[in-house]
Amino acid sequence: MLGFQINPFSLLKIARPKVLILLWLNIIVLTHAALSPYPWSPPKDIANKFSRDPATLSQVSSDFGLIFHRNSSAVFTPTSISDISKLIKFSNSLSCPFTIAPRGQGHASYGQAMTRGGVVVNMTALNDYRNGSGIVVHHDKQTPYVDVGGEQIWIDVLRATFVHGLTPFAWTDYLYLSIGATLSNGGINGRAFRFGPQISNVHELDVVTGKGDLVTCSANKNSDLFYAVLGGLGQFGIITRARIPLGPAPTRVKWVHMLYNDFSTFSKDQEHLITFKGRNGNNQADFVEGVLMLNQPSQDLSFYPESDQPRIISLVTQYDIIYVMELVKYYDDNTQDQVDQEIEDLIHGLKFIPTFKFDKNASYEEFQNRIRTIELTLKPLGLWDVPHPWLDLYVPGSRIMDFDEGVFKGIILKQNITARRILVYATNQKKWDDKTSAMTPDEDFYIVSILPSTRFDNLELYLAQNQQVLQFCEDAGIGAKQYTPHNKTQEEWVEYYGPKWKTIQQRKLQFDPNKLLAPGQGIFN
Ligand code: FAD
Repeated sequence: MLGFQINPFSLLKIARPKVLILLWLNIIVLTHAALSPYPWSPPKDIANKFSRDPATLSQVSSDFGLIFHRNSSAVFTPTSISDISKLIKFSNSLSCPFTIAPRGQGHASYGQAMTRGGVVVNMTALNDYRNGSGIVVHHDKQTPYVDVGGEQIWIDVLRATFVHGLTPFAWTDYLYLSIGATLSNGGINGRAFRFGPQISNVHELDVVTGKGDLVTCSANKNSDLFYAVLGGLGQFGIITRARIPLGPAPTRVKWVHMLYNDFSTFSKDQEHLITFKGRNGNNQADFVEGVLMLNQPSQDLSFYPESDQPRIISLVTQYDIIYVMELVKYYDDNTQDQVDQEIEDLIHGLKFIPTFKFDKNASYEEFQNRIRTIELTLKPLGLWDVPHPWLDLYVPGSRIMDFDEGVFKGIILKQNITARRILVYATNQKKWDDKTSAMTPDEDFYIVSILPSTRFDNLELYLAQNQQVLQFCEDAGIGAKQYTPHNKTQEEWVEYYGPKWKTIQQRKLQFDPNKLLAPGQGIFN
């Protein structure tokens, strides 16, 4: 601080009135700083938005992963977008700026929304001050869209658009995630093969940059910021609004599971499903994912009729690993007569195990919100608020067979630590825009999510296993990229970004030169 750089005795010798006033002001500033809980004094107009209440600080010192713990110095509760600008500008004005971590729902796994010693921005607080304007559906437009606050969560977008018979095209499986965070990562699920990730489905953003400027950007306007922020892991700006295109919403879905005991057949069929357009060229799958059933206790068989569960368990016991293809076709009153035929058309020629095909009908919302059902089942059993050492990977399609051998069979099945949820599904690389900051392999790839929940005493085993998986990928030259990446050193980040690292560095310099934002990612801090 300025006050420490002035020698008061030399000033007294000069004793000019102007200097004495300066000295007096410095003493006030220093005294205030000494009494203040921060090493700086917040500007008056936002001073009451900082909290150091231990309970509030504790809430932002961990996340869904329950693996890392970081103590911030304060939590900032914005009541407007300009509060966020002021906070960032204030930090930039200090000789020693503090870091700033926007926090949506805190569902990251490895401390990405935390800051050690900096300030966490409680983005969810914005919702309380939007007066219902957090989600505005423009349904009367020829091409409808929705304007959504960065702090809003996808379940509310689903509901707000659905009442107008509309829906976004791209989704995540779990909907209690903030718009700003999924757009800073990618936003993926079994729709991505058709429509790309959520970051390929945005018309426009409002962003508060790391300099504190509020900027509206799109592919045509301030496009350098637009592409930097999409998949940018929160490094270049805080997303405060996103304009998302909408299409007609179905009312119901036909949800099919087909079981395979051979990965080669499974993956060939999955690749067929994501490229198939129907015999008449107008019948595409609406959603394709895949789940592993491992020969482990606590299988979730709730999808299947009780009478079929024993033979499914026998099958898993016999083969140790079963691959479940998940296919969904949307329909509504006008198309319900044809949906069964459409499914038959889609699965024609697929080589799943005969008699192991199951289906059910569900409402669109029930299907979209299916992970919440799992959450509400696990919570009361104490199985939700436990450590989650998750690992999400994009695995090049050309190496997915090696990955199955080396990871699913060679590591996970062998180590048999406890039950876990593992997803594997194919997607199209061309649906991603390389101009964004997101990283993917250079070819069509599989999304693999290894999603364990564990007791604290087993956590190290899972973390070691994740390391083993990453090491296998490296040794075998698989070329996998992490999604919601967690790297420990800057060297690892440089390797992660490869040729894009220079662009990422340049974007940081341009939009957040003091490296304030999202320090929990550990890229620049
Ligand atoms: P937080 O954990 O609060 O923040 C994550 C990161 O985003 C931090 O770096 C934070 O600083 C930054 N950030 C937060 N808000 C903003 C903002 N407004 N602007 C800029 N940066 C911001 N992902 C998928 O793609 N598909 C899935 O199907 C999926 N399913 C999931 C299921 C569960 C149960 C969980 C826990 C996670 C899942 N994820 C999925 C991962 C999820 O998308 C990311 O972890 C996401 O970041 C979490 O959102 P959040 O609001 O909790 O973010």
